[in-house]
Amino acid sequence: MEGPLHDGHGRRISDLRVSVTDRCNFRCQYCMPAEGLPWLEREEVLSFEEIARLVSLLVEIGIEDVRLTGGEPLVRRGFPDLVAMLGAIEGIHDLALTTNGYLLERDAEALAVAGIGRVNVSVDSLQRDRFFAVTRRDALPQVLRGLEAIAAHPQVRPVKVNAVAMRDFTEEEVGRFCELARSTSFQVRFIEFMPLDGDRAWRPDSVLTGEELRSAIEEVHPLEELPREPSATARVFRFADGSGEIGFINPVSEPFCADCNRLRLTAEGKLRTCLFSLRETDLRGPLRAGAGDEELAALIRDAVWRKELKHRVNEPGFQAPVRTMSAIGG
Ligand code: SAM
Ligand code: SF4
Repeated sequence: MEGPLHDGHGRRISDLRVSVTDRCNFRCQYCMPAEGLPWLEREEVLSFEEIARLVSLLVEIGIEDVRLTGGEPLVRRGFPDLVAMLGAIEGIHDLALTTNGYLLERDAEALAVAGIGRVNVSVDSLQRDRFFAVTRRDALPQVLRGLEAIAAHPQVRPVKVNAVAMRDFTEEEVGRFCELARSTSFQVRFIEFMPLDGDRAWRPDSVLTGEELRSAIEEVHPLEELPREPSATARVFRFADGSGEIGFINPVSEPFCADCNRLRLTAEGKLRTCLFSLRETDLRGPLRAGAGDEELAALIRDAVWRKELKHRVNEPGFQAPVRTMSAIGG
């Protein structure tokens, strides 16, 4: 098949996020409503074989890095088997997972054996009652045990901790997260709150920017910026005294669209070319109708070619997508 995947703006597309389920055992304020969302029916969700076929094809035409996400990937029955299936695909440089960590203590061993390469665990507060307030689950001790369980496997590196930064909430956590970053091998990263929450409560002033956080940290701990890798979403800093790293993912205040290399596949097989896409390309229909690789590849190339130049969160008239974060696959 022809050469690597490029979009119509000259960007090489090499990173795929695959949502393996829209379901979740948490109800994070910035993501899902307390009552949950209408879940997909089982037959609507791609089977492991269907995911593996699409990932294989995408890798053949230029994808190099694959991250599994959701919803919460670990609530999908037999999830480590999917990791093993994808791990066997030749050409994937990096097979990664984003999880809320709740079931990680149970699955860490199986995931490591199956070949997961790196893991990000979402932890928005390091204080139990505040963690409960954000996630609507009293689960911090369980998540921290999960984090330790995955970190016990040296072949799974790096392990990163991601916290969504929300104004009037995260300010109080900064010291605790710095302590975590300084006292462990986990790289801690703050992610700016994006308008993809199920409650539609996002407002521009609810974004606590990475720059605000960075300058608050710098007042206590001098930081040195590390060189940014191409297409990296995070700006990463090292504590100047050499103990640990801290990163800032600033999609709202410092969009990184210009070198975005990402594609997303939803749990029901829709290809999305941007988190904020208003259109998507159905791959499940053609796949189940018996489409061959050439036909699917043509659909993918066409969708990728039309990838959005940038998101318009900061522009007047911005329209949020109907899907919210858990239904897209963050
Ligand atoms: N359930 C898993 C988890 O929480 O890590 C994986 C899916 S979750 C949708 C992926 C990432 O998106 C998490 O780090 C989560 O914190 C982040 N996220 C969810 N909603 C967000 C929002 N509105 N703005 C910024 N990040 C968000
Ligand atoms: Fe679930 Fe992850 Fe969304 Fe929280 S951020 S509700 S853990 S999908």
